[in-house]
Amino acid sequence: MIAAEQQTIGLLGGMSWVSTEPYYRIINETVNAELGGLSSARILLLSVDFDEIETLQRTGAWDTAGERLAEGARQLERGGADFIVLCTNTMHRVAEHIERATRLPLLHIADATAQHIAAAGHDRVGLLGTRYTMEEPFYRQRLEHGFGLDVFVPDAQDRAIVNDVIFDELCRGEIRASSRDAFAAIAARLIDHGAQGIVLGCTEVGLLLTPGSVSVPLFDTCRLHAEAAARRALLPGAAAH
Ligand code: GLU
Repeated sequence: MIAAEQQTIGLLGGMSWVSTEPYYRIINETVNAELGGLSSARILLLSVDFDEIETLQRTGAWDTAGERLAEGARQLERGGADFIVLCTNTMHRVAEHIERATRLPLLHIADATAQHIAAAGHDRVGLLGTRYTMEEPFYRQRLEHGFGLDVFVPDAQDRAIVNDVIFDELCRGEIRASSRDAFAAIAARLIDHGAQGIVLGCTEVGLLLTPGSVSVPLFDTCRLHAEAAARRALLPGAAAH
């Protein structure tokens, strides 16, 4: 059998490695479901040292962080990637650095997610993510201005809990039942405010909250982004002929 032609996906990952692992699996599963047999995805992975990136986030050195990721994107371009997938919501804060660094398109995680929310017919969602994602405009505005969504975030106390669990537990591969309960309670408060769905706006949160955890649909950015990457790699023109 002649192998189907695919684009090569450039994954910019390691933020954290705990969520880059499911990206790799979901992309391969999605490509295999489409092409069958022993088919798998064509992937280049550039995985950074997250300790360095997290320090740059915490100290507000976003331009330096952007330059690190821009260099990663250039390495992926030199390696033959056809497009870039940045495997974290938070670091989309420096999406422009990455877009300027190469000629490759960046498949934006918020767009992949918002398209699913719109297709599900929702226009009011709750957002759980790092404090940067919940508090700074770069992510919410993309959902609000780009897709007409109303985005609710938890109150300050709940945002601190969500942020701490992400960095102190999930990014270290720790999954605790007590944190699952805390996230479910925080999501429930957003639902009380009118959220019709919850955006898991951090690529590790899908490891904690699963569809049965809350009473409304969950939009898991890791899964939706990975599936969108696989579909793009198989787009006509890149697909079998
Ligand atoms: N993976 C997380 C996200 O989607 C958090 C890690 C980071 O700060 O990049 O935002």
